[in-house]
Amino acid sequence: MAETTETLPARPARLPEPSRLFRLLGPLLTIASIAVFEVADQVGLRIPNPPAILMTLVVFSAFTGGGRVGIFSGVVTCGYLAIFYSETGLKLSYAEENLLRVLVIIVTVPAIVVMAAMSKKRGDRLAREALRMEQQHSARLRELLQEKDRAEVELRLAKEAAEAANVAKSEFLANVSHEIRTPMNGIMGMTELALDTELTREQREYLDTVRGSADALLTVINDVLDFSRIEAGKLDLDAAPFDVRTVVDEVMRSLALRAHEKGLELCYAVEHGVPPTLIGDAGRLRQVLVNLVGNAVKFTDRGEVVVRVSAKVGTQTMEVGFSVTDTGPGIPAEKMKRIFEPFTQADGSVTRRHGGSGLGLSISTRLVEMMGGRLEVRSEPGEGSVFSFGLLAGHEGAPSLRRQTLPPSELSGRRALIVEDVPTNSEILARELEEWGMFSDCAENSEDALRLLDSASDHTSRYELLLVDTSLKGMSGFALVEELRRRNVVIPTVMMLNTPNRSVDAAHCRRLHVPDYVTKPVKPSRLVEAVIDAMRGVPRGAGSVRIPNQVTRTFSVLVAEDNLVNQRLMRRLFEKQGHRVKLVADGLSAIEELTKTEYDLALLDLMMPGCDGITAVKKVREFETEGTRHLPIIAVTAHAMRGDRERCLAAGFDAYLTKPIRMAELFDTVDSVVPDSYGETKPMPSVVFSPVPFSGESAAFDEDVLVQHAAGDRELAGELVEVFLEEYPGWLAEMRRGIEAGDGESVRRAAHTLKGAVDHCGASSAFDLALVVERMGRDDDMSGAHVAFQELSTELARLEPALRDFLANSH
Ligand code: ADP
Repeated sequence: MAETTETLPARPARLPEPSRLFRLLGPLLTIASIAVFEVADQVGLRIPNPPAILMTLVVFSAFTGGGRVGIFSGVVTCGYLAIFYSETGLKLSYAEENLLRVLVIIVTVPAIVVMAAMSKKRGDRLAREALRMEQQHSARLRELLQEKDRAEVELRLAKEAAEAANVAKSEFLANVSHEIRTPMNGIMGMTELALDTELTREQREYLDTVRGSADALLTVINDVLDFSRIEAGKLDLDAAPFDVRTVVDEVMRSLALRAHEKGLELCYAVEHGVPPTLIGDAGRLRQVLVNLVGNAVKFTDRGEVVVRVSAKVGTQTMEVGFSVTDTGPGIPAEKMKRIFEPFTQADGSVTRRHGGSGLGLSISTRLVEMMGGRLEVRSEPGEGSVFSFGLLAGHEGAPSLRRQTLPPSELSGRRALIVEDVPTNSEILARELEEWGMFSDCAENSEDALRLLDSASDHTSRYELLLVDTSLKGMSGFALVEELRRRNVVIPTVMMLNTPNRSVDAAHCRRLHVPDYVTKPVKPSRLVEAVIDAMRGVPRGAGSVRIPNQVTRTFSVLVAEDNLVNQRLMRRLFEKQGHRVKLVADGLSAIEELTKTEYDLALLDLMMPGCDGITAVKKVREFETEGTRHLPIIAVTAHAMRGDRERCLAAGFDAYLTKPIRMAELFDTVDSVVPDSYGETKPMPSVVFSPVPFSGESAAFDEDVLVQHAAGDRELAGELVEVFLEEYPGWLAEMRRGIEAGDGESVRRAAHTLKGAVDHCGASSAFDLALVVERMGRDDDMSGAHVAFQELSTELARLEPALRDFLANSH
């Protein structure tokens, strides 16, 4: 482009030179005319007015050929006309008037020549002037064009540079966040491990703060990563079948603890018209919902957060509407638009209290737009907010991913009493039961429930199911059940527990022999199971509380991971659960191990040297097609690409975990893929109803577990029991002293030791209760410790004779 930037030199204006023939045309025509006159005269032809013709040719000559040529034609014309008017030819004698004519001609011809020559000169000058102006204009025009070209080039270069910078920026951010996520894994995992050890209260506080800060940091990293990807147009959406109910349930469950700790009610309802399976990007939908529900929980101090999913079905696609309603502070009208902008918060002081980067809503807005919808908000200050969006989701031809959870027809026509003090919740539950063909009444508190139960005692109007919230105002749900026990009223009951007290409440359920419970927010498919269990009178038994430390089965695990810190973390996490761990550092060794040795479970990092996780899992699955075995394999990745989940499942993984790994999440995932371990969702049994009340107690300990813990040696088991029976009164005494003195640490220590010991004996109820006391000690919260201690003592009083029986039988 260099030549376009040069300025052209100004050239002098030059008119085109006429040709020589053109310049001599005047004299030639003059001579030719004279010749023609002569010839015509010879043949007697008379040409009219030759002087006028010749004068015209003189003017023509001067115009075309200039002054000298004009003079030549003028001389020739004067000479010819002098002879033409002469009486005697060449001798030149004239009559009087002819002499006058010749004199006039001799005077006028030079004058005409001079005038014509001057006119020509002036004309030439003007033409040259015009030409020069025209040349100047075109030079200016050329310069302007060159400037324009130059500007265009500069613009293009600047645009390319900006684009390259943007790509580099987002790549840099992606790499940096990826690099940060890996050590974060170490920080978070090791913190969790440290929190699980003996610590002073001060150390525990410090580590809790580390965990909280690491969580917050991870959220910011994820937000920045997503935002930069969206900005760089590098975020693609998946289109894979997913179960929308599972997505919503997972989102709500992940935020339930936070909500319940704040005393908020969290519930959701998915309309029955929403099909089981939709096609779209489940990961991104989850992200938007987590953001909206997370905000609602964050900004709301009292009341409820409700998610509703509805559907408008078309022939090929359908619009699925999502709304998140809260009873929080609301958003002022003037701030409504701004909160969707990046890094903007409605009320700086409030959000500083709650934290947050101000990126969540702008990411959600863009994601919803990419999914074909629009994120909207309705809000009144003081009245709460409703964030909503509708998505076009394909559903035709989507394979059904949902396990059939349709309730058996036997439920239909049965009567239920819902005891729940939050109207939205009881409304959602009543609608769900109605869908199953059940009738329901709602009571807002235990007293109303007792009144309703009293008045409906005859055979036809009797309630056949009681759905009770544990945290009712006034008389609690447990007190209600106890009162019914006292009155000898037998009615199948399902308790609804809040997340933070889950283990305490679950132990309480067992004390009261309530066969089953569900955790809030209530998942309809889980509720069906619980209702059926309750109506069959089948208790879920001692295994209902999930405690990561409680080992029910051990297995051999292969962990393929190249990072040393993560290797150590994984090894410790699994070994703490009693599992055997083999570590490999690259994909090829993983394939070799898995095809040579039998494992119960494998965890493969997606990015390993040698061969990546996806290739490795494909190889293992190929190998497996020869046999009948299916090894559960979990993908582990530090990459925050949420669409990877579906890619991993398609490649042959059974589940997908993102780093940093959290212990609870890890073992939940392990439970969900390793067959026969607790937590595996079993297909629905076809139920024959026989409303038998639950009777009888669960065994105080499990003899098989006891013997198994002693490596199958009954004698060793007996010795362990003897040691336990000798020691436990001392631990109980220490615990009592601690509770009375308000010394959380010694309560925790004694409960922890006792917990380990009863765990060895397979006494799961005692284990649960010891765990409850241990947590109370750990949190220095002695408010319920007396009651829990009493329950634990009662359980141990039940356990002791059972263990003595075992000793007597094994000797
Ligand atoms: P962050 O929550 O990280 O600050 P967001 O982009 O998610 O960023 O939200 C932007 C702002 O919108 C918040 O800081 C808050 O002021 C306001 N906001 C979002 N959701 C709610 C809600 N449910 N109730 C009240 N204010 C909200």
